[in-house]
Amino acid sequence: MTSPQHITHWIAGRPWTGTAERRGDVYDPATGQVSGQVDFADTGVVDQAVGAALDAFGHWRHTSVAKRSSVLFAFRELLNARREDLAAIIVSEHGKVHSDALGEIARGLEVVEYACGIPHLLKGGYTEQASSGIDVYSLRQPLGPVAVISPFNFPAMVPMWFFPLAIAAGNTVVVKPSEKDPSAANFLAALWREAGLPDGVFNVVHGDKAAVDRLLEHPDIKAVSFVGSTPIARYVYETATRHGKRVQALGGAKNHMLVLPDADLDLAADAAVNAGFGAAGERCMAVSVLVAVDPVGDDLVERIKQRIAGLTVGPGSAPDSQMGPLVTGVHRDKVTSYLDSGVTDGAELAVDGRKHPLSDGAAESGFWLGPTLFDRVRPGMSVYDDEIFGPVLSVVRVPSYDDGLALINANPYGNGTALFTNDGGAARRFQHEVEVGMVGINVPIPVPVAYYSFGGWKSSLFGDTHAYGEDGVRFFTRGKAVTQRWLDPSPTSRGTTLNGGINLGFPTNS
Ligand code: NAD
Repeated sequence: MTSPQHITHWIAGRPWTGTAERRGDVYDPATGQVSGQVDFADTGVVDQAVGAALDAFGHWRHTSVAKRSSVLFAFRELLNARREDLAAIIVSEHGKVHSDALGEIARGLEVVEYACGIPHLLKGGYTEQASSGIDVYSLRQPLGPVAVISPFNFPAMVPMWFFPLAIAAGNTVVVKPSEKDPSAANFLAALWREAGLPDGVFNVVHGDKAAVDRLLEHPDIKAVSFVGSTPIARYVYETATRHGKRVQALGGAKNHMLVLPDADLDLAADAAVNAGFGAAGERCMAVSVLVAVDPVGDDLVERIKQRIAGLTVGPGSAPDSQMGPLVTGVHRDKVTSYLDSGVTDGAELAVDGRKHPLSDGAAESGFWLGPTLFDRVRPGMSVYDDEIFGPVLSVVRVPSYDDGLALINANPYGNGTALFTNDGGAARRFQHEVEVGMVGINVPIPVPVAYYSFGGWKSSLFGDTHAYGEDGVRFFTRGKAVTQRWLDPSPTSRGTTLNGGINLGFPTNS
């Protein structure tokens, strides 16, 4: 066995060289072995990182938009060329399968590519002759050092929802990745340096609540983008706004997929399995509740059971694996406990993930749990009420579309949802009536493309702006409106001259 790798912070363009008072274990979920030890930042380390970001802001905000976008293009090229290396890091610390790791990098790259268009995105408005001899125009300017605090489930993509636009817009960044899979952020930091980003524009601090709390209160951090579970998202939103910061805090989810009787049931069953068990259900857009409108419940459950039986569960690095392990042993045990509580609450355990075979060569000591299906689930059962964040799909049966819609709208979360139907009128009604931020019609994981914005409603997002797209540009910039008047030098011009004189009246336009 190789000795655990040491993972440390990235501050001012290089790895931190201090000695940490606290460290955390990082696991290879496919073997259950400790593969690394990550330094945890205390207040002093966070202050160093924010200090580096503040220093760098002094020149980065004045760097031309052309230069900033050229660094973005270089970063895009490097990331594209090295995506296999990054995917291997993600697989080794998160556990997801290789194709899924490449998928999250691809979706992050989309945001980088969108941010390459920053010259266009920052264009303001201009009104000539808004009043006599007066023109008005608008600017968007960066905020300063900003913090990005991210969850374990997308160690590359989620930070990339934010930092490409933040940097392109002229801000500097301190990323606090999940302590469970910290290495992807360091890999990205090294790529930025290679791309020509000045030192201090992109920094990484590792750690837990202590690091987060310092970022939330630090007077030089101007904005916080957070993604994680709902209780922490609420805490981050309340704490950081109390310290005067701009905040977007994306929380947890319980995503419902509503299947109408006229739907293509094979398409729906495929989608439910893909979206329920992809990444072992550790996706904020995973489908965790299948709402079957009578009479399709029996038929759907049967089709899903057949598909689950054929799934290959094994190490993320093995080419034939379709589903990998869970991220840690603690998380696996918590998810597994729902299999017992679901049965106690009266749900039918249609497929028990504990009995699913592992692929040849999978180490017994990995954090495994196979795909699990509960049938006849109802609100009030913990498998329905809680965000489990694992490979557990619950089927709720309802008599009508209206009952299905009411169920979805009564749920405290509002991240993603999907409708499966062949009825365009029903689909149109659903998108109009459903109280959820991201809606799929015959699409199970409706993560918006980079030029739209990503965000849920209700307890899935605290704040006013969604991630990336136009909302991302707005979040990372402040608007300014300039009203200007210039002397026309031509004596024969019909333009105005700058007249002085005293007038205490409120300026009106003429
Ligand atoms: P988490 O809330 O445990 O951790 C998220 C971040 O907060 C991490 O960086 C962590 O170190 C930090 N943190 C944890 N506890 C803290 C505390 N008490 N005080 C301050 N900071 C703290 O989430 P996770 O387990 O890493 O990720 C899974 C969760 O993220 C799920 O709930 C999932 O739905 C959610 N998620 C949401 C989205 C979305 O777009 N809405 C996307 C991905 C993940």
